Amino acid sequence: MPSLGCHVSIRRGYLECARNALRMGAGAFQFFPKNPRSLHIKHYNQADAIECAAFCHEQGLVSITHSPYPTNLAEQGPELAELTVRSLQNDLEITEACGAIGVVVHFGKSRATDPLEGYRAIISCLNRVLQDWPGKALLLLENQAGEGSLMGSTLHELVQIRSMVNQPEKIGFCFDTCHAYGSGLWKKGKWSELEQLGTELGYWQQVKAVHFNDSLYPSGSFKDRHAQVGSGLIGIAQMSQVIQSPKLSAKPFILETAAGSDGTHKAEIELMRKLSAP
Ligand SMILES: [Zn+2]
Repeated sequence: MPSLGCHVSIRRGYLECARNALRMGAGAFQFFPKNPRSLHIKHYNQADAIECAAFCHEQGLVSITHSPYPTNLAEQGPELAELTVRSLQNDLEITEACGAIGVVVHFGKSRATDPLEGYRAIISCLNRVLQDWPGKALLLLENQAGEGSLMGSTLHELVQIRSMVNQPEKIGFCFDTCHAYGSGLWKKGKWSELEQLGTELGYWQQVKAVHFNDSLYPSGSFKDRHAQVGSGLIGIAQMSQVIQSPKLSAKPFILETAAGSDGTHKAEIELMRKLSAP
C-alpha cells in the first residue's frame, strides 16, 4: 500500500503541520521547509523540527519537503548560483531535522543559448550542494512540464544527470503525474509505455515520492496546471493506473491540488485510497 497525503502548510510550525496531515487521514505529506518565495536562509526552530520527526516516527507518517520556487539549478550567474547552493543546503538541513525523506527540486531554466551550459550548471550546483552533506535526506529531482523551458521534462535527462554527479546515491526522483502528462512524456492512454521506459532507464527504483496531480490541460500541452484528482484531463481511469502501478507501490503519493469544500484534502485522500485499492 502506498502512503497517501497532500501538501500541508507550515504556518503553525513543523509539528503542527504533521498533526494536520494526520487529522486529514494522511499517511504522507509534503511541506515547504521555509518561505516558498525566497532563497533566504531560515534559522529554523530546531526543537519544533525534532518534535515533528519524533511525531512522524511514532505515527508512521512519511514526508518530503519542496524547495522554494526561485530555486534554479541551471542558474549560471556566480552570485545567484551561490545563493541557490546555500539555500538548498539549508533545505536539506531542515528536511533532515524534520525526519523527511528528501527535498524536491526542479532543474529550473537556463538563459544560455547553448543548452549544455544549463546542464553543466545543474551538475555543478548538485555537486556543490552535496559535497559536504553528511545527512540521509536526499535531493529529489522532479520532472517538469516543459512550460517556458523543456529542460527536465524527460526521464532520460533526469537519469543522465543523476549518473553524472559525484554522489548519485544522494539523489532520488519525484515523479509528478501532471508534469509528465503536460510535457507529453505520458501520452493519453499510454501509461504502460511510460512504465516500460522508466523500467528500461532504471528510473522507477530511484523514485522516492509521487506528486499525484490531475492536469487541466491535455498531454503534450507543456502546461503546468494541476487539477484535483478526477477533475482534470488525465481522469480517474488513468490516475488509477499510476497509483496501482507495481513500480510505485509503497511510495508516498502526495497531492498538490486545491483543497476541497471543507478547506482540507480529506475527501481527495479518501478518493486516492479507493483508487489505490480497487
Ligand atoms: Zn510537483
